[in-house]
Amino acid sequence: MSTAIQRTGGIPVTRPVLGPEEAAAVVDVLDSGWLSQGSRVVRFEQSFAARVHAASAVATSSCTTALHLLLLGHGVQPGDEVVVPSFSFIATANVVRYLGATPVFADVDERDGNVTAETVAAALTARSRAVLAVHQGGMPADIAALRQVCSPYGVPVLEDAACAAGSTLYGQPVGSDSAGAAWSFHPRKVITTGEGGMITLDDALLADRLRALRQHGMSTSAFDRHGSKRFVLESYDEVGFNYRMTDIQAAIGLVQLTRLPALVARRREIVGRYLELLAGQPQFRPCREPTYGQSNFQTFWVELTDEASSSRDEVLNALAAADIGARRGIMAIHLEPAYADVPLRVPLPVTERLTRRSITLPVVDDMTVGEQERVVDVLAAASRR
Ligand SMILES: *Cc1c(COP(=O)(O)O)cnc(C)c1O
Repeated sequence: MSTAIQRTGGIPVTRPVLGPEEAAAVVDVLDSGWLSQGSRVVRFEQSFAARVHAASAVATSSCTTALHLLLLGHGVQPGDEVVVPSFSFIATANVVRYLGATPVFADVDERDGNVTAETVAAALTARSRAVLAVHQGGMPADIAALRQVCSPYGVPVLEDAACAAGSTLYGQPVGSDSAGAAWSFHPRKVITTGEGGMITLDDALLADRLRALRQHGMSTSAFDRHGSKRFVLESYDEVGFNYRMTDIQAAIGLVQLTRLPALVARRREIVGRYLELLAGQPQFRPCREPTYGQSNFQTFWVELTDEASSSRDEVLNALAAADIGARRGIMAIHLEPAYADVPLRVPLPVTERLTRRSITLPVVDDMTVGEQERVVDVLAAASRR
């Protein structure tokens, strides 16, 4: 049985890499008769924690639910503020509002699209309970620099690492030495479980509390009770959620994790080729990796410069007409109707410019050199009309 989906003609913006190994792992779960959170979730947590050099990992149903639990676990409550980038997927700010707290938007660096020590410092107040930094599109944010600004105020730097599996920071995996990071396994990310998420952290006590909160606040899991030779009566110590991952998802995740190094290497190779093809074309400014880390290039975006004579949307239309799956770059949360009632504390000129003028290019594991040349040819022709 092969699960590889054949591509026809067009170039998608990205595509998950799944093979017969994932299919066999799912069949094993079905044969086992235990489908919900069980031994495979435990193994996936342990393997993921080892991969990102974290002490503990807690699997969840998505990165959004992981972020919700992480902020809750760090005591975020109504009246608090959490500093976040606006230049991110909307879930980054939504989770702050789930807790009745206020997202305070910080601007980003134009090179990598991430918040910086300066932009975060400008958004901190006495009510800041946490900073939620995003490794946007897999680009590593400078967590140590953020920590230097935040630690005098006792404000933890948490990480939205939704896109960042396989990215590195200071020579270590993103997620090592972290107060808490949340990960996504949505099919748009580099490795996938269909839907799914993970929290990694170095605080074992907090990890235990998050594990309980993920399963209705239950003191012991159904799996642990099932495995026990004695009768175990669970208790419910606080109001929790059902944010569990299934063993079906975890079985896929365990296989995907073995693919991660090759998937990242391949994405970096494709981006390297784009950078060569785009060199000498001043109408494009590609996003740039920082000196202190490496991106997995979950997202590769270019900004249209003043040298371009067409609008961003004209270029996107030309790409769509050529059956090339390009997207606008990263959204700006504060410009969405759901955020009309959240006032800006500081202006966000870089965020607004990048969201208006950037384009995400396709990075697909099996794309050919010829396909990359076609993308850049269409891009170049459309930008000079
Ligand atoms: C994808 C993404 C999320 C949401 O992840 P889900 O697993 O779909 O909930 C959150 N933050 C960022 C930055 C993302 O890119």
